[in-house]
Amino acid sequence: MNFKQLEVWFITGSQHLYGEDTLKKVSEHSQQIASFLNKAEQISVSVVFKPTVKTPEEIFSICQEANASKSCVGIITWMHTFSPAKMWINGLKILQKPVLHLHTQFNRDIPWDSIDMDFMNLNQSAHGDREFGFMMTRMRLNRKVIVGFWQDEKVLKQIDTWVRAAAAWYDWQGAKFVRFGDNMRYVAVTEGDKVEAELQFGYSVNYHAIGDLVKVVNEVSDKSIDTLVKEYEEQYKLSDALKNGQRQSLREAAKIELGLRAFLEQGNFKGFADTFEDLHGLVQLPGLAVQRLMKDGYGFGAEGDWKTAALVRAMKVMATGLEGGNSFMEDYTYHFEPGNEMVLGAHMLEICESIADGKPSCEIHPLGIGGKADPVRLVFNVAGGPALNASLIDMGNRFRLLVNEVEAVKPQHDLPKLPVARVLWKPLPDMQTACTAWILGGGAHHTVYSQNLTSEHLADFAEIAGIEFLVIGKETKLHQFKNELRWNEVVYGNCK
Ligand code: MN
Repeated sequence: MNFKQLEVWFITGSQHLYGEDTLKKVSEHSQQIASFLNKAEQISVSVVFKPTVKTPEEIFSICQEANASKSCVGIITWMHTFSPAKMWINGLKILQKPVLHLHTQFNRDIPWDSIDMDFMNLNQSAHGDREFGFMMTRMRLNRKVIVGFWQDEKVLKQIDTWVRAAAAWYDWQGAKFVRFGDNMRYVAVTEGDKVEAELQFGYSVNYHAIGDLVKVVNEVSDKSIDTLVKEYEEQYKLSDALKNGQRQSLREAAKIELGLRAFLEQGNFKGFADTFEDLHGLVQLPGLAVQRLMKDGYGFGAEGDWKTAALVRAMKVMATGLEGGNSFMEDYTYHFEPGNEMVLGAHMLEICESIADGKPSCEIHPLGIGGKADPVRLVFNVAGGPALNASLIDMGNRFRLLVNEVEAVKPQHDLPKLPVARVLWKPLPDMQTACTAWILGGGAHHTVYSQNLTSEHLADFAEIAGIEFLVIGKETKLHQFKNELRWNEVVYGNCK
């Protein structure tokens, strides 16, 4: 995604009370702020100045325009002066784009020696923004509030966090995800209401028979397979088996990648889910193909997990241009050594190479389940550092986004007999609390692992989506977390 083609609109509210001179100043100052934000390297989308709105008609009209705009992902509002907020009711009622309320002031400091009533009347954000804030609260509207001077590093970074969430939300609207095969038999947490998901999130999830995909895979030409295998040879350390005896399996993996990619491109899909239980006509379970498609920005969920596929996509969009990666993930195995508790995260095959530490090796090994030929996969470790796991679950009457902040651990062992991509992490605040909270919160075994997003990105995203959000992190206390779960049941009207 090209973020610079996306826009957030900078809209300043005022009124006619102050006369033309003041309004001229308001406009100049707003342009100055918008232009500064637009040029700030911390902010990854374009910030577009819009003329000051002073009447209910102007406000309604700019909200209509924002709704219709193909490039506007959200609006930033700011009240330089006092903008009586009843003027905002009808505009806010129809507004469908995310709102960031920037509670700032044009002047950073009070000019102690020269301050007079003219200065006071112009620099009124301290109360103008409260009036606006009341109206959004009175209307029960979700928004992000950021407080601070507009040139402040922390403010700029916070704006960018919200902007990224808004961009991911924009990307979900009208997005298409494809399911090859159904949900894995009897599995609960990967199920969900696809109608409700489309209503709530704006993306659709539809089914295509695996045969439809196999047909496209079988149309792949030998020549394009040759080219892709060459690319594999350049990008990865190929195992001896793939270089020699099992070369045909590598070609088969390339064929699957080319077919899958063509299918996704033709259908304009932003992600997909597959299942090892339904691979009729495919020679191997797609491993390498999935890893590489994820790296290119496609969402993915295994075992029919379309909710995680959509979340992988959203988080990849949110992280556009940031160092580090985002991947489909599964909590696989625990290390319960006292004082050094860890989780080993992996999947049978499908971990995105965007989180790899160094050059992955490309290998072929048998897979215990599925009854297909040995699949080709990328094997790698993941670097240490702060990260998180996010899980989107369907609670029956609402969706819940659950996040656990973790500290990834530099691998201490070679794991010579574990031929999959894997990562080790220590969940925050500690293994016992984090896993207890996760289980109580109903978090899935499937997650999206992120090296470059924070809880704030996901909190902003959940706020825009209008869904429940829970975070397990450094400050989490179990009794508080349990209360939060109970209280949220009341909020969402499902109290027993
Ligand atoms: Mn799985």
